[in-house]
Amino acid sequence: MPDLDLIVIGAGSGGVAAARRAGRYGARVAICEDVRVGGTCVLRGCVPKKLLVYAAHAADEIADAAGYGWSIPAPAFDWRRLIRNKNAELDRLNGIYEKMLGDAAVPVLRGRGRVVDAHTVEVNGERHRAARILVATGGRPAVPDIPGAGHAIDSDRALDLDRLPRRLVVAGGGYIAVEFAGIFRKLGAEVTVVIRGERLLRGFDEDLRRHLEDEMRRDGTTVRAGCRVAQVRRTDAGLAVELTDGATLAADTVLFALGRTPNTRGIGLEDAGVRLRDNGAVVVDRELRTAVPSIWAIGDCTDRRNLTPVAIAEGRALAETWFNDNPSAVSYDNIATAVFSQPPIGTVGLTEEEARRAFGRIAVYRSSFRPMKNTLSGNGGRALMKLVVDAATDRVVGCHLIGPDSPEIVQGVAIAIKCGATKAQFDDTMAIHPTAAEECVTMYDPVAEAAA
Ligand code: FAD
Repeated sequence: MPDLDLIVIGAGSGGVAAARRAGRYGARVAICEDVRVGGTCVLRGCVPKKLLVYAAHAADEIADAAGYGWSIPAPAFDWRRLIRNKNAELDRLNGIYEKMLGDAAVPVLRGRGRVVDAHTVEVNGERHRAARILVATGGRPAVPDIPGAGHAIDSDRALDLDRLPRRLVVAGGGYIAVEFAGIFRKLGAEVTVVIRGERLLRGFDEDLRRHLEDEMRRDGTTVRAGCRVAQVRRTDAGLAVELTDGATLAADTVLFALGRTPNTRGIGLEDAGVRLRDNGAVVVDRELRTAVPSIWAIGDCTDRRNLTPVAIAEGRALAETWFNDNPSAVSYDNIATAVFSQPPIGTVGLTEEEARRAFGRIAVYRSSFRPMKNTLSGNGGRALMKLVVDAATDRVVGCHLIGPDSPEIVQGVAIAIKCGATKAQFDDTMAIHPTAAEECVTMYDPVAEAAA
């Protein structure tokens, strides 16, 4: 008879969600954590990043205020105060997470969990037997194998720098790269983004990608496409960043944002029979079960849709299935996501290219405009909104927004798309005036119609 119904390895978004729900249903459950309860999202990802994004937006608000009649004496920015305040908020959230686990009667085993066999996890030399093991170990920043990589920082460290970088080189073009580039640029750093491909944000709608790059350049960020960082050297003047195209950039900080590696090696998974992909991601079936029938895996350690709400939904679905006699599965269709770049992005559904491949005939509706707020302020930023429609059914299958408040706007649109709303129903929805969001229901004329 095992001691526990469930042991969870990793107290991040997914692990905590699963353990709490299981505990609430009366299961005997324990969770182990080798850093701090809360995981990447709360301590090294979504939350601290967004707090820094708010700080970055404040720079725009201050600059824009003059056009609205305000005279603000030369503002001063204190990076250390921001980081102190941010850390205090993370401590508060960590406390809330600890309390939530306590309230659900879930003990936290402090230390690194290692799978000993299909039903046993060892933490700090102590073995715990459980009917089920849930692996929710998340991921960590990938480190490139290049000379001088040790001189660079990753996203964890970028959230805790002693001082604000003056000249920052960001290697990578994914969402984490553009978010940090935007934060540091708005806070006054000279920023260069180095990307291997032609454009930022691979996998996103092409119009968004182009628009973001234009806006970042307009705001003073340099984007160097088609090359990589080959080497980082320390010099008397700071860091010399050698690129594969032969150029050398001077910087005081280099941030590698080149993807993430699942935390799955060296914790006994393979020896127990769990299959891993080459990048270390745990292979799971549709029910999130690994190759070992008593071991499941959720969230970033499976490297599928690496988002907090997905990890939480997966954890809850398993707890519902196991301990509440409520078989549940996660729906991965039409997951809305945001990129907190400058300007921010909100997106859901298929890109124009994906929709064309899926449906053949599509209609595209696009609106590029200067948000009203930017008129009196003189801010040159523009917004872009786009709907992609399956021509045969009139269903809206994609919505792509870039501009102020896009992440807030897209959540509502995601519900409509998830419900299968048609373009006619969008058009029939009364606009809220004056807002930027009203463009979503007032784009009447298609700009492109393509046959496969
Ligand atoms: P994690 O939250 O990473 O939790 C895993 C936990 O397991 C960690 O606490 C770790 O310490 C612990 N652990 C690992 N191995 C062991 C072991 N052997 N024993 C004990 N404990 C172990 N997602 C969004 O939805 N929106 C965003 O805006 C967003 N922004 C992000 C920004 C950044 C900079 C980063 C890095 C990520 C961001 N994400 C965002 C992604 C989000 O943080 C992850 O998808 C989410 O945290 C995944 O949850 P998880 O439970 O799978 O793993």
